[in-house]
Amino acid sequence: MIPYKSEPLTDFTIEANRQAYLEALKKVESELGQDYPLIIGGERVTTEQKITSYNPANKTEVVGTVSKANQELAEKAMQVADSTFNTWKKVDPVVRAEVLFKAAAIVRRRKYELCAWLTKEAGKPWAQADGDIAEGIDFLEYYGRQMLAIKDGHPLNENPGQINKYSYIPLGVGVVISPWNFPFAIMAGTTIAAAVTGNTVLLKPASTTPVIAYKFMEILEEAGMPAGVVNYIPGSGAEVGDYLVDHPRTRFISFTGSRDVGLRINQRASVLNEGQIWIKRVIAEMGGKDTIVVDDDADLELAAQSIVTSAFGFSGQKCSACSRAVIVGDQAYETVLNRVVELTNELIVGDPSNEDTFVGPVNDAGAFKKISEYIEIGKGEGRLVAGGNYDDSKGYFIHPTVFSEVDPQARIMQEEIFGPVLGLTKAKDFDEAIDIANNTVYGLTGAVISNNRFHLEKAREDFHVGNLYFNRGCTAATVGYQPFGGFNMSGTDSKAGGPDYLQLHMQAKTVSETL
Ligand code: GLU
Repeated sequence: MIPYKSEPLTDFTIEANRQAYLEALKKVESELGQDYPLIIGGERVTTEQKITSYNPANKTEVVGTVSKANQELAEKAMQVADSTFNTWKKVDPVVRAEVLFKAAAIVRRRKYELCAWLTKEAGKPWAQADGDIAEGIDFLEYYGRQMLAIKDGHPLNENPGQINKYSYIPLGVGVVISPWNFPFAIMAGTTIAAAVTGNTVLLKPASTTPVIAYKFMEILEEAGMPAGVVNYIPGSGAEVGDYLVDHPRTRFISFTGSRDVGLRINQRASVLNEGQIWIKRVIAEMGGKDTIVVDDDADLELAAQSIVTSAFGFSGQKCSACSRAVIVGDQAYETVLNRVVELTNELIVGDPSNEDTFVGPVNDAGAFKKISEYIEIGKGEGRLVAGGNYDDSKGYFIHPTVFSEVDPQARIMQEEIFGPVLGLTKAKDFDEAIDIANNTVYGLTGAVISNNRFHLEKAREDFHVGNLYFNRGCTAATVGYQPFGGFNMSGTDSKAGGPDYLQLHMQAKTVSETL
């Protein structure tokens, strides 16, 4: 088998690739507004109640409508998943992995079309959509190989006359609640990590991006995933989400989203319900308040570029996004500040269907309201040096916004905004910069731009984040290269795309035979 290697990103300077994207956008435009059913045990179920998915760049454009599960249908899906588990868990892990490899091949063939769906449904500019689909392919290829690597368990010590075996078996039914910010990669990654390990899945995709998840369901079916292994049940968190988190047959929950929802799930999952015979496992990837630290001797151009890309890529709607930059010393501060402002003002804001757009819309009306409120809070907490304007007349557009001279304890420096808002602050020395970087409840990503080896080594030890980067930005972890997940309120540090991620969906069994 070819060793794993991450999927190359598309080069849009090649004319054929540009044309392919434009054609895919046209194709997707001609398919907007269709209606999609639930998928339970392979059966299509259409409900009266719908979730409507809109284009956030053009808020009256309907991307699609999707049937909406209620508790009765969630119960039906649970029963199907529970009984399918009895057969799926017996399927050879090699066969399970092959379904993933086939799915990866299909996604690769349909890359442009899937990207175009992300542009329309999630407001992703071309390069961001391309990264999302490439990461989805990576999860399929990487987890498939990981399953092959762990399928025979681990060798154990043995005494004479004894054979000891240690192997992993699946858990049962997993509820996967996936986010809208990586509506393909994280939705696919969390779903297939659960399925390839022999579990069955109830997939509840984010309500603003259910169509791309439906497309993935079709791909899994085409790849040979048996009916009932992954069930597609979009619905409301309060109704369907809570019902399934509480359900006594739910064995684990894999969640990516906000801190508040993650904590709520964790709490509810800890309650023992009637008929339940296990402790539910929770895999949670939650928020971040991620910092780039710039040293006084650093490459300041690299620093400014890294800050701007990490802060404003996909409108800052990544839990890995840089929302704070701490710069050591007056001189470095002035230089970086001026350059960050210049670069920010050059960013093209607009419809992500246009090739040149760097900053598209934010997710929906709720995100627009929250972010614009934080911009107003920021105006009282720092000096507005770029952006600060927002407009939702056509789509949910917020200009990349930079505040300088912000107190590290200010609200915009402590609370997750999940939008294109960046705060800059100054530190007197490197030690103070690391203290500031660590002073939030989160611990997801961080970066240090420095040429001082001692400072980098200090950061390696003391900068308390799950993903720490030196001399680059703090977003865009690659599956298998930079396993992703954070500390403290950022979640359970379940490292997606890492060598021990699949085991979180399994339990180990020891069998010792006396000869
Ligand atoms: N893995 C992504 C990155 O490294 C972020 C994922 C997220 O926002 O949930 O940028």
